[in-house]
Amino acid sequence: MTDDRAVQTVTGRVAAADLGRTLIHEHVLIGFPGWQMDALAPHFDRAEAMTRAIDQLQELRDLGVGTFVDPCPMDLGRDVEFLAELSQKSGLRIVCTTGAYFEAEGITHTFRHLPVEDIAAIYIKEISEGVGDTGIRAGAVKIATGAHRVSDYERKLVQAGARAARETGVPLISHTQEASCGHDQIDLVTGEGVPAERLLVGHSDGIDDHDYHRSLAERGSFVGFDRFGISLIVPDEIRVKNVLKLAKAGFTKRIMLSHDSIVCWQGRPVPFANRHEDVLAMLPDWRPTSILTKIVPQLRARGLSEDDIATILVDNPRRFFAGA
Ligand SMILES: [Zn+2]
Repeated sequence: MTDDRAVQTVTGRVAAADLGRTLIHEHVLIGFPGWQMDALAPHFDRAEAMTRAIDQLQELRDLGVGTFVDPCPMDLGRDVEFLAELSQKSGLRIVCTTGAYFEAEGITHTFRHLPVEDIAAIYIKEISEGVGDTGIRAGAVKIATGAHRVSDYERKLVQAGARAARETGVPLISHTQEASCGHDQIDLVTGEGVPAERLLVGHSDGIDDHDYHRSLAERGSFVGFDRFGISLIVPDEIRVKNVLKLAKAGFTKRIMLSHDSIVCWQGRPVPFANRHEDVLAMLPDWRPTSILTKIVPQLRARGLSEDDIATILVDNPRRFFAGA
């Protein structure tokens, strides 16, 4: 269905070769299921959020970023019209996804009783026709699994996602919890006939374990070092060390860098922080600019060449979307 070399952004198709420097896993808006029930959460103001997001994305554009991939699951406050307006106003390309979150933190009720074929058909509809009646099409599939064990629900959704990817040619971006179950995800995706290189195993940087990273890369999948700045899980020094190790082991072409940052929260961000400012005070580098301003200089100083850095930031996302 989808031309192998075209990428579906929220404002239309572009050639994969034109994506430029790409942040492969960031978020504009996140609202955990039920955020509207929290009457004591900070008020969400759409116009204010738009202004903040435009500023943030323009800052990224000034740093040479061309494309912002927002793999927000359908059940975490995804708003593709917000993304399309933001893309037009900021001048940054944005790619959105179809797919739902893992069982413990998503809206499981809706998909629990649907068979895998129906869920795959829903995903395919969002990729080929658009989300709702917006005409805004998803450019990738989001899949997600919980910690250390894939539940029956998650298995069904990963299989549905893989079938949608197989039918449409878009790639898959995953969430893993506690950097576990990456190999289960690869098994499930390849079991549906999708090559491992069409999958980015997300949040693999959540564990200081080079052998795990390498084992994913050896199977051909992309390895997500995509939570830079979340020092509560792993300090960035450890992430940098593991990126360098994987590159030196010959797997530069399998590395993806991002922050999983969130520009605007709907509701309170996390149980221990009521406001976005509180989160940033705790995690000062959890901003979508950190890789370009802080991490890339470190990688360069510790031996990665300009070619390696371009491979990671430009070529890997291009190959991931182009399927080549
Ligand atoms: Zn995320």
